[in-house]
Amino acid sequence: MSSSTYDVVVVGAGFAGVTAARELHRRGRRVVIVEARDRIGGRTWTEDTWGRPLEMGGTWVHWVQPHVWAEMTRYGIGAVSSPTPVQAYWLADGRRHAGTADDLMALIDKGMRGTTSEALTYFPTPYQPLAADVPADVDGVSIRTRIEQLELSPEEFDLVEGMWATNFNGATDVGAYTQGLRWCALAGGSWQLMFEACATYKVEGGTGRLVQAMFEDSRADLRLDTIVAAIRHNQEGIVVELTDGTRLEAAHVVVTTPLNALGAIEFEPALSVVKQAAAADGQASSGVKVWARIAGEYEPFVALAPSTSPLTLAQVEHVGDGETLVVMFGSNASLLDGTDRQATQDALAQWIPDVQVIATASHDWVADPLSRETWPMLRTHQLTGALEELQRPEGRVVLAGSDYANGWMGFIDGAIESGMRAARIVSGHAREDLS
Ligand SMILES: Cc1cc2nc3c(=O)[nH]c(=O)nc-3n(C[C@H](O)[C@H](O)[C@H](O)COP(=O)(O)OP(=O)(O)OC[C@H]3O[C@@H](n4cnc5c(N)ncnc54)[C@H](O)[C@@H]3O)c2cc1C
Repeated sequence: MSSSTYDVVVVGAGFAGVTAARELHRRGRRVVIVEARDRIGGRTWTEDTWGRPLEMGGTWVHWVQPHVWAEMTRYGIGAVSSPTPVQAYWLADGRRHAGTADDLMALIDKGMRGTTSEALTYFPTPYQPLAADVPADVDGVSIRTRIEQLELSPEEFDLVEGMWATNFNGATDVGAYTQGLRWCALAGGSWQLMFEACATYKVEGGTGRLVQAMFEDSRADLRLDTIVAAIRHNQEGIVVELTDGTRLEAAHVVVTTPLNALGAIEFEPALSVVKQAAAADGQASSGVKVWARIAGEYEPFVALAPSTSPLTLAQVEHVGDGETLVVMFGSNASLLDGTDRQATQDALAQWIPDVQVIATASHDWVADPLSRETWPMLRTHQLTGALEELQRPEGRVVLAGSDYANGWMGFIDGAIESGMRAARIVSGHAREDLS
């Protein structure tokens, strides 16, 4: 059995882990990143498929997301825009509809305003969600219950439910209304700006370029294909046990595994009861992201459907050479295998009956044991019942990651924010958290 000693072991080489490693290196710490996959990036993964960078996970960024935008500025990486949708298709009230993107935006406006009108009431300073005066019963309301309170027409209801099923990438009766409010508060209370922040601007050259630049700056040791099995800690320090029997010794450990994958690591002493319960319940996201090349050059479109459909949202990402590249989301991964061309064509046909899918690409993040979720979205009661405890270090163990962020939880921005906080805590520079 071999053993190595570091100041800090960082578990996971996603944006949170790479950020924490870089910040700790800047403070003179000797850091190793231990990553179970054969690559860095975690839930961001730029694949070179079909001759262009395809984002299998996290993609869109925006200047209202200050942490990721600052990193792009730091490394001189720009943003490129997705095509602006002109056409729209929607499935609502049991029927297929077509119109312009503006028609669709007008149809969802009442419901989106209704579901977000309390954003700045509850979250006037959205990077301080724990300081917000949110009653536990409000945090117990699901986004679906909130939609039901709005007296929408059946068509409006289906569309707004589909929008939120897409935003949560999960079931609307599980996702917390407060999570939706937090997103919108971060966009200044505007649902339109929130929508733009979610799906308009991409990292030029791919997210892989950004995470690689950050990693190179970290100068950390990196062990790929290395799975952490157990973390044992006491007053003196930490022992991180790998599945191959290797032991790493360190003064601190930063654990960036997604909440839904946290239960796979044994902790001694055990994590607090609240942390364990949150890990067992998991985040609300349980959906799928699918890319498809379809035959023909379509005018850029956006398409929307309620969560009873295997796909809730589709939008065009590129048109040329007789084909259209479409990115799609479904809120229940068990309803669609995104690697199945025929199944994807059948699902897309709900909007475009004669569509011809040439090929698809997808990764099942929910089945993936290293994530078990897509983008982190809190369930009801988790903001008031679990977030503060999830952020609380246990001795020398600090959880970090988008799953534990104050601001853009569910985004790359949240991962970077949380990685920065973890590095500050480990460095002993923790102050009352004003970020
Ligand atoms: C399909 C999809 C679409 C998304 N779209 C967007 C978007 O458009 N914009 C946006 O900003 N965000 C988006 N996100 C969210 C964003 O990608 C994540 O919030 C962010 O990348 C999470 O970073 P992280 O470092 O917190 O976690 P991760 O990236 O999950 O990193 C954690 C790392 O820990 C590793 N790990 C887990 N267990 C172990 C173990 N036992 N031992 C060693 N290593 C382990 C994992 O392999 C992983 O690399 C999307 C995510 C998905 C999945």
